[in-house]
This record gives sequence, structure tokens and C-alpha cells, in this order.
Amino acid sequence: SLILAIETSCDETSVAVVRDGKQVLSNMVSSQIDIHRRFGGVVPEIASRKHVDSITLMIEQAVEEAGIKLEELDAIAVTQGPGLVGALIVGVMAAKSLSLALQIPIIGTHHIAGHIYANRLISELHYPCIALVVSGGHTEIVYMESEGSFRLIGRTRDDAVGEAYDKVARAIGLPYPGGPHVDRLAMEAKKAVELPRSWLAPDSYDFSFSGLKSAVLNALNQSQMKGEPLDHGELARGFQESVIDVLVEKSMRAVKEYGAKQLLLCGGVAANKGLRAALTARSEADGVELVIPPFQYCTDNAAMIGAAAHLKWKQGAFDSLDFNVHPSFSLEKWMGQELEDKQ
Ligand code: ATP
Ligand code: MG
Ligand code: FE
Repeated sequence: SLILAIETSCDETSVAVVRDGKQVLSNMVSSQIDIHRRFGGVVPEIASRKHVDSITLMIEQAVEEAGIKLEELDAIAVTQGPGLVGALIVGVMAAKSLSLALQIPIIGTHHIAGHIYANRLISELHYPCIALVVSGGHTEIVYMESEGSFRLIGRTRDDAVGEAYDKVARAIGLPYPGGPHVDRLAMEAKKAVELPRSWLAPDSYDFSFSGLKSAVLNALNQSQMKGEPLDHGELARGFQESVIDVLVEKSMRAVKEYGAKQLLLCGGVAANKGLRAALTARSEADGVELVIPPFQYCTDNAAMIGAAAHLKWKQGAFDSLDFNVHPSFSLEKWMGQELEDKQ
């Protein structure tokens, strides 16, 4: 299949052309980070407007870069949710127009399924597998018994990892999005400030990062009140080590309990150098096959949406032109949805 995929769930406008859910012919990404940076985070109204400004050009560029003609496309895929409602609508409207004009099917696609299937762009997947999803809005452990079957076995009870990174970064005066900056500081630091780890119940795959975030903010406040300097690098390293310890431990435990053949790292925080290194070392030690996408497929991009949409393509599960965006959308619902619709 030759699929044109559109992703506009947050602050990246992205369009890709993907063959058979794995071969990327083009993957154009236009980030709005520079625009949102001065507000310290994504402003939804501005995000929607910027998507409108750039979507048409991005589609043209993706098609040109792929070296294909629009008539060759088999389907249009588009992120249906989760994400910002206004931002999602821009992508879905563009996708519907293309679907109508070209008379080809449209596939509403789940953003987190995209982050997970980004791994399909670089590796065959072997089931059962475990996906560790770490992004700006999600921190989840997903068990996949077979292709396209998603079972959430753990999730964060408060902050997502990326969100915690961005808040810590803001507290130490780093620009938005702070994740990569905290990562760099942590990797350069010689020592780590001692910070707590939140394990929750021994058998739980859930996460909690708000306590850790508060510990970082407290350490900063204490140092300010006492006038004792606190090394931001050492603080960043302490924070990063705590996050990584818990993510690695829980995902490796899930791999063992579920007899997974592979561990997939997914989402924007998968770009974290410390996490990639720690998971790689631990997987090698434990004889687990680890798949990590290259940086450009970790943060939001449309190629991953094309990869996930291929699941639906194979089932012939297309959407009708009146489908809606789902700002909060579960993986299970996405895969079961066609059944409900057809009944
Ligand atoms: P979601 O996918 O949950 O809807 P999102 O799409 O906004 O959320 P992504 O684009 O997948 O999130 O990831 C962005 C997040 O990844 C931001 O919080 C950013 O700080 C974080 N991030 C990116 N690079 C790194 C890094 N090297 N270390 C830590 N965090 C990082
Ligand atoms: Mg983003
Ligand atoms: Fe994302």
C-alpha cells in the first residue's frame, strides 16, 4: 500500500508518504517550537492556526520528496487523537479533502499507536512484545500479544515523563521543550543529587512522577532560601537517574512476566540519551531484544502514523468521511472501533 499520512495532534505539522507501513518515502516535519517557546509551552489556538498555514505546503512537499504522483496513493491516514482538538481538526479536514478529491479511503489513526509502530519503520516486530511509551502526554507499558492488539498494563497516575522533564527544565530556567536540555545537563554532570524513586506496589506497572518533580522543586527552593548553591547538572542527573531506574526496571519486569520477544521504546522521550543507553545496557545483560527508533521517528512525525495506519489497511478497516476527532482516545477503542461502527 502507498499511504499519505498526516499528523497535527500537537505542535508539529507533519506529512509523510509510507509504503507497506514500513518504507518511508518522505517524512516532512515542520515544528512550531520556536513560536511556542516564548509562552513556555504549546498554546492551542496558535497551534491550530499554524497548522492551517503550513499543511498544504507540507502535503505538496511530502509528495514531491517521495517522487510519486497523488494518483498513485492508495489511502490517506490521519491522526484522529489523542491530541489538541483544534490541531487535530486541521489535519483531519485536510485528509478528508484529499480522500474526497482522490476518491481513496481514509484511515483515522491513533497517535500512540503511531509512536509504537514507529518501530516498524526500522525493524520487523515479533510478538508478543512490550512497548514502553514515554512522551509528552503519556507514560504507559503496553502489552501486544499480536499485531495491532494493545493492552495497557501500566500507566502514569499523575505526570507523564515528558511533562515532568519539561516542568523540571522550566524550574531550572531552561527553554521549552526542556527534555533535551535536561538530558544534556544530566549526561554532562559528574555527580547526581540523591532523589527518591517511586516504585508504587511491588507488582504494579503504574508510574508516578509528581513526587520526584516536587523533590526537585524543593531542592531548588531550599538552596535558594539557604543561599547555598545547587549544581543544576547534578540535580538534572539525579532526576534523570530516578526516572530511568523506574522505567527500565518496570519494563524489563513486564518483558519477563509476559514472555515478550521484543521491547519497543516509543514516544518523544525515547530520544533521551540516558534512557537509550540504560535500556540498551540492561537488554544486552538480560538477553532481551530491544528496538529503539532513530531520533526523527521518536518525536511527533507522520511516518509513524503511516506505519500504524497500515494495520487498518490490512484489515480493510476504513473510516467514513464523517468521522470525528477524539482528543482523548484509547488504543483499545481505536482497534475495536470499526466493529462497533459496522454493527
Ligand atoms: P503525546 O505523544 O503523549 O500525545 P506529545 O506528542 O506532545 O505527547 P512527543 O512529541 O511524543 O509528545 O514528545 C515530546 C516530549 O518529549 C516533550 O515533553 C519533550 O521534552 C520530550 N523529550 C524530547 N526529547 C527528549 C530527551 N532527549 N529527553 C527527555 N525528554 C525529551
Ligand atoms: Mg511536539
Ligand atoms: Fe506524540
